[in-house]
Amino acid sequence: MAQMEDSLKAALYRITCPDSATLGNYHLGLLGETAVQPIANHLAVCPLCTREIEQLEVFLLETAVSLQPSTGERIRVWIAKRLPSGGQTRQGLGPAVGTPAFALRGSSSGPLMYEAGDAQLSLEVQDDPEQPGRKVILGLVLGIATEAVEAKLLQGDGVVTAVTLDEIGNFTFTGLETGTYELTLSGADVEIHVQDLLI
Ligand SMILES: [Zn+2]
Repeated sequence: MAQMEDSLKAALYRITCPDSATLGNYHLGLLGETAVQPIANHLAVCPLCTREIEQLEVFLLETAVSLQPSTGERIRVWIAKRLPSGGQTRQGLGPAVGTPAFALRGSSSGPLMYEAGDAQLSLEVQDDPEQPGRKVILGLVLGIATEAVEAKLLQGDGVVTAVTLDEIGNFTFTGLETGTYELTLSGADVEIHVQDLLI
């Protein structure tokens, strides 16, 4: 009997109830001022709509939690794959055509191209104009959000140097000794590793 009363009440209430979409927009503050007041008045007297808003709140809360990228499993880790000679990408552009094979190291080799998951990475190694005998790496990352991505150069277990990508994905390392390095790029949800980087 109590149940029947409830559902009868429910039916009566529901005739004057705003629909779920309107309630949702109300809760999210998306309704215009004139639309807000009648719903606020209705909520004051309608337990059903009040409950619906509560459920919506719980739903939004759970959704927000599951969208947070803070858990380790959401980080995509990619090992960069070296693409065949950077010189190829310059074919038809003149001087770089016919780059000799021995020029893999140093300033005349053209950029080293890598592919890592959704990202493309270009690394250009040049002589450091300010420090004779040292090298610079000019890097560019495309295909991922570059906001707050850190580029780190490692040797063994130690970090040699680290910089933050600029807004279009550029980064520069200067004053590097020749040798073999590992480069990592790490952002909120992605980590890219370039291994055996010889400069
Ligand atoms: Zn209602």
